[in-house]
Amino acid sequence: MSILVLADLHEGQLAGATAHVIAAAQAIGGDIDVLVAGENVQAAADAAATLDGVTKVRVADNAVYAHQLAEPLGKLLAELAGDYTHVLAAASTTGKNVMPRLAALKDVAQISDIIAVESADTFARPIYAGNAIATVKSDDTLKVITVRPSAFDGVESGGSAPIEAVDVVVENTQSTFVSEELAKSDRPELGGAKVVISGGRGMGNGENFKLLDGIADKLGAAIGASRAAVDAGFVPNDMQVGQTGKIVAPDLYIAVGISGAIQHLAGMKDAKVIVAINKDEEAPIFQVADYGLVADLFEALPELESKL
Ligand SMILES: Cc1cc2nc3c(=O)[nH]c(=O)nc-3n(C[C@H](O)[C@H](O)[C@H](O)COP(=O)(O)OP(=O)(O)OC[C@H]3O[C@@H](n4cnc5c(N)ncnc54)[C@H](O)[C@@H]3O)c2cc1C
Repeated sequence: MSILVLADLHEGQLAGATAHVIAAAQAIGGDIDVLVAGENVQAAADAAATLDGVTKVRVADNAVYAHQLAEPLGKLLAELAGDYTHVLAAASTTGKNVMPRLAALKDVAQISDIIAVESADTFARPIYAGNAIATVKSDDTLKVITVRPSAFDGVESGGSAPIEAVDVVVENTQSTFVSEELAKSDRPELGGAKVVISGGRGMGNGENFKLLDGIADKLGAAIGASRAAVDAGFVPNDMQVGQTGKIVAPDLYIAVGISGAIQHLAGMKDAKVIVAINKDEEAPIFQVADYGLVADLFEALPELESKL
């Protein structure tokens, strides 16, 4: 078996999710190549080469792959896929954008968001917002897979795999990069944070989200939100946790003013310890919480911050 992992990049650097996808590749077994595609991505390639279990890193460094546009990346993967039995990527914004295109170009089924590997052709994946687990078997000769990073412990770094250049340059006439607005934050990235504190509609407005800042600073936490808080315009949508947002599995998840709809739980119920602060003792979030505080958040949050 030979596996190609598409590296996840964040602002041109190797994102933490890649180490988790490599762990999934190890569970399948075989040689594991990592493709780093982008513009000026040598540093990301160097970082990928240190990850344990990597056979070699392939670097496609060209302006056409800048900004991780899905159309050229899909075509590039389709060109390279002939050498492999499996192509894996994180079920991240980029992975979810690129991999369906590869599957379509190769006329195979995509296997999305796997959380376990049963064998080289059989995988487990959540369905119905995580309320059931489907075991799916693929007979395609090429398996195109996205991996839920939080379901696999990332591999360590310590290796030194060889790095080779890929000279395939595809044409992209389908899409053009226009601009991007990046949220700048000194906090840990939501998807990989060990501690997450999230606010919901109960926060009342965006200004009140500042009540979470001091606690997040003290705990080194990322800040998340429910979809209701995002839809109401309290905070940007890259903070959304849940079925249609980010899937997180931190050591500690603190849900503040969040009722606990199943679509929210789908994004955080694998957290090791869940704390909920809600003024309604009947709120469903208390059914999954390890620690529940029935309280008004406007009193509880300042008190929690001062105690911390
Ligand atoms: C297809 C689909 C996909 C979805 N995807 C997502 C998703 O990815 N993520 C997501 O979060 N949702 C998602 N939703 C929406 C989801 O169904 C809920 O509507 C949403 O999660 C509710 O957000 P909330 O808990 O913040 O708001 P509410 O359900 O309105 O809960 C607010 C809570 O705040 C509490 N509260 C109010 N004031 C205070 C106070 N002063 N102190 C303490 N507690 C207080 C209330 O008691 C209440 O429990 C999706 C829905 C659909 C249909």
